[in-house]
Amino acid sequence: MSAVMWFDDELRQLEERGLRRRLRTVESAQGREVVIDGRPVINFSSNDYLGLAAHPALVEASQRASRDFGAGAGASRLIVGNLAAHDALEQTAARLCGAEAACLFNSGYHANVGTISALAGRGDVVVSDELNHASIIDGCRLSRAQVEVYRHGDVADAERRLASASGARRRLLVTDSLFSMDGDRAPLVPLSELARRYDALLYVDEAHSMGTLGPGGRGVAAEAGVVPDVTVATLGKSFGSFGAFVLGTASLREFLVNRARSLVFTTGLPPSVLGASKAGLELVFGDEGERRRRQLQQNVARLAAIVGELHLGNAPQSQIWPLLLGSESRAMTASSALFEEGLLGQGIRPPTVPEGACRIRFTLTATHEPGDMDRLRNGLSALRHQGLLLHEEKR
Ligand SMILES: *Cc1c(COP(=O)(O)O)cnc(C)c1O
Repeated sequence: MSAVMWFDDELRQLEERGLRRRLRTVESAQGREVVIDGRPVINFSSNDYLGLAAHPALVEASQRASRDFGAGAGASRLIVGNLAAHDALEQTAARLCGAEAACLFNSGYHANVGTISALAGRGDVVVSDELNHASIIDGCRLSRAQVEVYRHGDVADAERRLASASGARRRLLVTDSLFSMDGDRAPLVPLSELARRYDALLYVDEAHSMGTLGPGGRGVAAEAGVVPDVTVATLGKSFGSFGAFVLGTASLREFLVNRARSLVFTTGLPPSVLGASKAGLELVFGDEGERRRRQLQQNVARLAAIVGELHLGNAPQSQIWPLLLGSESRAMTASSALFEEGLLGQGIRPPTVPEGACRIRFTLTATHEPGDMDRLRNGLSALRHQGLLLHEEKR
């Protein structure tokens, strides 16, 4: 059997299990409305939470940086690819986030894989929430440390695992701050106490919360009054660009520059991205960001009212709200029905979520208008009338 047939076979099996994924082509810029298959739909699936991905300030900064520094970095940062624009972006990120230093990575995926595998190794224990992002899971695997996965948000389970790791060389406690598929927060206050008590580094991934939540948009840890040893933030979500940075001490930054393989062995981010990211950071942590965060919170409040009115389950705790639907087919049918109404709510299936926990992951942005929220309400109400909602069966 040839290799091609082997892949075809696997794809057929995915199809039969309702798990085959397909790329969908967006024929417009990212925004509250996008064009898919030639038709405009209101976008309730984007991570561009503040609506900056197509902002003119980012586009112009990106063009300016290309003119000044060229289209590509030309080498890895440690060879000859560390441009003044990389340094400027790191300094801006550190200053605006109130950290001693920031270390730039090419994406959040690179940041987690490289940082976790640099901070933990053989003889160490990583204690990790079961719903942590895939890039954290991959970083744990790559580290070759012993990985202890605790039940989602379960501080007692995390403590048991830290206590039993007292003989390990080092301990790392890792969590998302805002979970990407459920929109709930990690219990950072008790987790930070555990980290202190059991001599573990506290590592917090703020991919979905830096820029949107907390005082001045500085994240869920700041909101909880916790200062993690290591904070990861991505530039591809609220900041409208691409890339990521790790916040911590200057020595952490130096250590990562020396030891994070996903930084050492990859070409530096291109100038266009660096320019857009810097402009994104300045907008997010300025008055414009403050204004957009208020609009986003108004939309979250409107969604909470809709969820209550239509009895759709748990109220949203952030801009991410899962409508739990159970099976693959139910989630995909509901997603298609919404699409027919001009609403984009992406169905999410395993392995992104556990078996039987398929859902539509709705995300709100600052740019959604009151009329968009009304259309969402009507779309959700139609799902109820079509008998596609779980809660209805229970009643
Ligand atoms: C999106 C995400 C990442 C990956 O970031 P990219 O920049 O998209 O690679 C990492 N961690 C979490 C929690 C995320 O949601």
